[in-house]
Amino acid sequence: MIIVMKHNATQADVEQVKNEVTKAGLMVNISEGSQVTIIGVVGDKTRLSSDSICALPAVDKIVPVTESYKLANKKFHTKPSVIDLGSCKIGGDQLVIMAGPCAVESKKQLFESAEAVKAGGATVLRGGAYKPRTSPYSFQGLEEEGLQYMLDAKKETGLSIVCEVTSIHAVNTAANYVDILQIGARNMQNFELLKAAGKTNLPVLLKRGLCATIEEWLNAAEYIMSEGNQNVILCERGIRTYETATRNTLDISAIPVIKSKSHLPIIVDPSHASGKKEYIASLSKAAIAAGADGLMIEVHPNPKEALSDGPQSLDPQEFKVLMEELKMIAAACNKTFS
Ligand code: PEP
Ligand code: MN
Repeated sequence: MIIVMKHNATQADVEQVKNEVTKAGLMVNISEGSQVTIIGVVGDKTRLSSDSICALPAVDKIVPVTESYKLANKKFHTKPSVIDLGSCKIGGDQLVIMAGPCAVESKKQLFESAEAVKAGGATVLRGGAYKPRTSPYSFQGLEEEGLQYMLDAKKETGLSIVCEVTSIHAVNTAANYVDILQIGARNMQNFELLKAAGKTNLPVLLKRGLCATIEEWLNAAEYIMSEGNQNVILCERGIRTYETATRNTLDISAIPVIKSKSHLPIIVDPSHASGKKEYIASLSKAAIAAGADGLMIEVHPNPKEALSDGPQSLDPQEFKVLMEELKMIAAACNKTFS
C-alpha cells in the first residue's frame, strides 16, 4: 500500500508515519513529488493498523497496491527514475545509445568498435565477456580478459561500459570493471543472480526474458530493488512468438505498458529483437517514437567475421547513418541524446 500525505505535511509528519510503519516491522520507500509526499510500504500489511495510520493528522489517504511488485511500481514513485552514470543520464528527456559488439573478441576488435560507436554518438559501449550461447560449442567469451579490454576501451574513449553477467561469480568480478551490469534474457528469472546484482550499487540493465510477461519482468526488477539497488534499467529485446521471419518479435507495446506501470527507464534492443540488420533502423525509430529511453545496438567493425550475432550487427558506417536518421525522430519526441 501507499500512504499519501497531505499537501502541508512537514518532514516531522513524514518521520512520524515512517516510525509507525517501521515499528510494525515493515519497510518504507519515500517518494517526494512536487505536489505531495508518498510513503510506499513494503512487507506484511496485516502487521499494520490502517486505522491508526489514517488517524495521523498529516495523512491524506491510504491506497492499496494490488500488484506484487512495489518498488518498481509507479504508484510508489510517481516521477520517472533517472539513472545517473556520471558521463550521461538514462531516463527523463534523455535518450541513451548503448552500442558495441555482441562479444568482446580481441582488444583490437573492441577498440575499433568503441571508436566507431563513439564517432556515431553512442555514450555507452556494450560488449559481452560472458556469453550465454545456445550451443556449448559456440564462442563463450573472454571472461575477465574481456572485462579488462572493456575497461581499457573506457579509459581510451570516455564511454561508459555495460557487460552481461551470467553467474554470481561474474557479478563479483564484473563489479570491479563495469558501469552497468547486464542481466540477459535467459537469466531474467535467475533469482539468485538478481539478488546478487541487487547487492551491488551498480545500475543493472535487466533484459526481458524470452517468454516473460511484463508482470514477471517487473517482479524480476523487484528482486534487484528489494536488495537495496534502485538503479534498474529495463530492456525490451523481443519475445518468442510463432513468427519466424525475425529472430524474436519486438513487443513495442511493452514501452507504453511499462511507462504506465513503472517509473523505471526502458530501452529497446532492436538487434536481438530482429536478428537481422536490415530491420534495425525501423525498429529503432519505432522504439523512440513509442517513448523508449534509449537503444542497445550491436555494432561490429567487420560483421561478417563476428564470432557471434554477425547477421544482426551493423558496421560502423551503417551505425553512423542510423544515428543521423534517429536525430530527427528524437527531436520530434523532444528527446536529446545523452
Ligand atoms: C546480449 O545482449 O548480448 C544478449 C545475449 O542478449 P539477450 O539476453 O537479449 O539475448
Ligand atoms: Mn548478441
